[in-house]
Amino acid sequence: MQIPGHIDPVPIPRTVTPRADGRTDLLGLSSPQIGDLLVEAGLDVRQAKLRAKQLFHWIYHHGLTDFAPMTDMAKAMRPWLAERFVIGRPQVIEAQLSTDGTRKWLLRSDDGQDYEMVFIPDDDRGTLCVSSQVGCTLNCRFCFTGTMRLVRNLTPGEIVGQVMLARDALGEWPNGNMASQLDDSDDNSDSDDEAPEYTADGRMLTNIVMMGMGEPLYNFEHVRDALKIVMDGAGLALSKRRITLSTSGVVPMMARASEEIGVNLAVSLHAVTNAVRDEIVPLNRKYAIDELLAACAAYPGANNARRITFEYVMLKGKNDSDEDARELVRLINQYKLPAKVNLIPFNPWPGADYECSSPERIRRFSSIVFGAGISAPIRTPRGRDIMAACGQLKSASERKSRAELDRMAEEKSAALG
Ligand code: SAH
Ligand code: SF4
Repeated sequence: MQIPGHIDPVPIPRTVTPRADGRTDLLGLSSPQIGDLLVEAGLDVRQAKLRAKQLFHWIYHHGLTDFAPMTDMAKAMRPWLAERFVIGRPQVIEAQLSTDGTRKWLLRSDDGQDYEMVFIPDDDRGTLCVSSQVGCTLNCRFCFTGTMRLVRNLTPGEIVGQVMLARDALGEWPNGNMASQLDDSDDNSDSDDEAPEYTADGRMLTNIVMMGMGEPLYNFEHVRDALKIVMDGAGLALSKRRITLSTSGVVPMMARASEEIGVNLAVSLHAVTNAVRDEIVPLNRKYAIDELLAACAAYPGANNARRITFEYVMLKGKNDSDEDARELVRLINQYKLPAKVNLIPFNPWPGADYECSSPERIRRFSSIVFGAGISAPIRTPRGRDIMAACGQLKSASERKSRAELDRMAEEKSAALG
């Protein structure tokens, strides 16, 4: 079936960020990519390889944004690098703190597009929710991000940049170099031997979820390259077991995600019949439930130690009946899926068509699934007061009036027939 163009991937703009001053941003580049740039700039191949390795370590392990303190680089090399390269960060437009400790940052790209990232502190972990696109083309009916008109893929630098910024903000780089970066004086930042001087507020970034704005599998290469950098042992060194990629069900990319990235998989299922899923997750019209669950069963990482998480947003009167819960269990058993279900209370946003199921309904749904031996915890909404909860992300510049949202909803349903 032909689906209107909005569910197809958007074009990818660029990988290396050219800057107005002619310098190249190294953020988001792998060690071999940095090496290639150094060769282009005139270094011989052996020297370039060595310097690239050193740079990678300074950038991603120490979090440096300046070449001057790179003590293992020849003195003359440092200004040479600074003339040609920068180590950037996404621009922070706004930082908000929720009453429950959740933080949200509004970020802006060089070409003036806004996207968001969210940090969710818990007792035993700190999770960064990372965006993969500005906006999203998929228009799930319950998701605020899906109402954004502008969509562009984030570059690897913009994706890794979110992790770097979170570490900056949490003061989580070794050797306390953040302290000197924050007060903008680098006089004391060139000593690599200083005792660690963490300024962390006790919450450490331990986990990453690709659950911010956008569909990560529609920006596959950039998400893969960014996560490879995040997982690289010479840099940020986050284990793949601590990273989860959430997809709304881009079936043809799931096998590649497993082979080339290998992180945990979360699937936004949200409904157990095609009639309902077609309505709330329009991508279902392209890849229906059976096809999606078959792809989940084939996801090679999936065994009992690494279960697939099914996300299920609780929408009043839409997908939340006892029968829905039983059908969910039946489907998971039919496909023999090592699965866990995450029940997400619907987070409201201005102009949304749905309401959240009642707490009793959600508990009942959960107990049916649990009763069948499948874990089905209810996710506690976090950061609702600052619109940082699941599905509430949308850049401020894009927040629309009610009338405008209604008109867009009409256009959308006309386009979908
Ligand atoms: N695009 C990817 C990842 C980002 S969304 C995906 O859809 O999987 C992260 C999760 O939040 C998804 O499961 C999504 O369906 C859910 N979500 C979207 N809008 C929501 C809302 N208003 N309330 C609760 N969850 C929502
Ligand atoms: Fe896009 Fe995910 Fe929102 Fe659907 S739920 S519109 S896929 S971000």
